Amino acid sequence: MNKRILMFPVLMMMVVSTLFAAVKPTLDHVEPPFWWTGFKNPELQLMVHGTDISKTKPEINYTGVEIVAVTSVENPNYLFIDLRLADNTQPGKFDILFKSNGKTVFTYNYELKAREQGSANRDGFNNSDAMYLIMPDRFANGDLSNDQIAGMPDKYNRNEQYDRHGGDLKGINNHLDYIHDQGYTAIWLNPVLENDMEHASYHGYATTDFYRVDRRFGSNEDYKKLSDDARKKGIKMVMDMIFNHCGSNHWWMKDMPMKDWLNGWPNYGITTHRKTVLQDPYVSKADFDEMADGWFVSSMPDMNQRNPFVAKYLIQNSIWWIEYVGLAGIRMDTYPYPDQHMMADWTCQVLNEYPKFNIVGEQWHTNPSLVSYWQRGKKNENGYTSCLPSLMDFPIQDAIVKAFTENEGWDTGIMRLYETLALDFEYPEADNLVVFADNHDTERFFTAVREDFSKFKLAMAYLMTTRGIPQVYYGGEILMTGRKSDGDGMLRKDFPGGWPDDNTNAFTGEGLTDQQKEAQAYMKKLANWRKNKTVVHNGEMKHYLPKESVYVYFRYNDKESVMVVLNNSKENKTIKGNRFAESLKGFTSGTDIVSGKSIASLASLEVAAGSAMIIELK
Ligand code: CA
Repeated sequence: MNKRILMFPVLMMMVVSTLFAAVKPTLDHVEPPFWWTGFKNPELQLMVHGTDISKTKPEINYTGVEIVAVTSVENPNYLFIDLRLADNTQPGKFDILFKSNGKTVFTYNYELKAREQGSANRDGFNNSDAMYLIMPDRFANGDLSNDQIAGMPDKYNRNEQYDRHGGDLKGINNHLDYIHDQGYTAIWLNPVLENDMEHASYHGYATTDFYRVDRRFGSNEDYKKLSDDARKKGIKMVMDMIFNHCGSNHWWMKDMPMKDWLNGWPNYGITTHRKTVLQDPYVSKADFDEMADGWFVSSMPDMNQRNPFVAKYLIQNSIWWIEYVGLAGIRMDTYPYPDQHMMADWTCQVLNEYPKFNIVGEQWHTNPSLVSYWQRGKKNENGYTSCLPSLMDFPIQDAIVKAFTENEGWDTGIMRLYETLALDFEYPEADNLVVFADNHDTERFFTAVREDFSKFKLAMAYLMTTRGIPQVYYGGEILMTGRKSDGDGMLRKDFPGGWPDDNTNAFTGEGLTDQQKEAQAYMKKLANWRKNKTVVHNGEMKHYLPKESVYVYFRYNDKESVMVVLNNSKENKTIKGNRFAESLKGFTSGTDIVSGKSIASLASLEVAAGSAMIIELK
């Protein structure tokens, strides 16, 4: 037989099978992977990703669930399915059938879960809380088996500041009692979602899957368990989210849904990071766009929240995690960088579903005008309004560092605290701001004050008694150090005792210096005292101009008053009560909760050099 004739059917079969393989749809992602009944918003948009999925037609047969729109986009491997859930839709499971020529080519079993009882009215974090910030890779290693995951390229090496150190959710869960005993009622974890990047993935700010916890931290179920276990101990969970960018290894980067899914794709520029332009009344469009649409860094593609599918994806993703984990709050990264109007829409939608929820935005600027612009209730000249309840109080953070590092002068030193707080008229809700001395991006506070223990104690007394929600960065309570110029990883060192082979164990106190133990006990005392002091949570604030480097203020309500005295000078001081007569009216004595000593008379107070008094007035 002729060889050519023999080859022909074989070739034909190969061509046919190749064609068949090319058109056979596969289903790779359905997001959100499940949902709940009983939200106020009846809409749900599914993003479906799979080979040539747009050539199929989805069908659902479930009482109360209606497909209202199916949208194909530029990339045939995506479908967006808009569902409407009727009010009385029952929780349950149903198949989404993806059909082509009348045949089902793929089935996805979708679940509508019942919402947890009372989840809509769960308390968000608020000024009754003290928040503990943890970088999960660097706190405690509760599961040695997940330190390195096959197929994930970033390396485990505790000796390298940018490598993975093995900390995880189990580790945090193992030490909830420590966090509780230290007096914290909320934990904010730096991002826990998958960051499958080649290098420096430990910090978590380059998301590669918005619906999956990084396997080196554990599973989605581990995250939910941590939140559930924390709640049982009276500790609220705050999730760190990033809407501005994803990681360059996100799965959709290999198969972009649409050209405008990202800003500047594929020819991007880097943002100027000049946040001032966003409110500048004289701004040029060129500067505005370069700031808002530039990429954060080249490994973090800038998402285009003006694309309604991107916006919906992110909003639903946040609600999914709130409901799934039972969150009490969100810390939103780089708040001013995404589209302002989408962010306003997001905050309003979340608060519509969860009225007591809290969201704190990161607007890293030391000017209260630029921070307050974003807070709900703010009347802005350009008409911009949002529902964002809280912001990170960077102006106060800057003031705290300067107050306790500068020489005392007319407008330096402790006067910084007074001057900055005096600008609170800028904020619609100053007492909902998160106050802090340091975080994962700043110099460690003990390093900033050149390891001056008295300055540390003064600052922490301020942090725990000023208005707002205090946040302490893990290890601050044991005087952990880290210089910004030594690299960001050095601000995020391992918490001693979190790893089985650690010589020092801050959880048990083993190996800590006397000063570290004293700091830990001091922080524990302040946070636990604050826990039940409603007058410090939401009482009024009245402060007096610092004189001779002594700053005095009162937190008060109808029932009680707390007098705080911060002596930032190198000398002992005597404070005369008559200057504070309007605040001392009705009180004759008190107890200093720092020293535990009774104060028989308020007419004259002796305050030791570089020390704080927190006096419960009687
Ligand atoms: Ca681990």
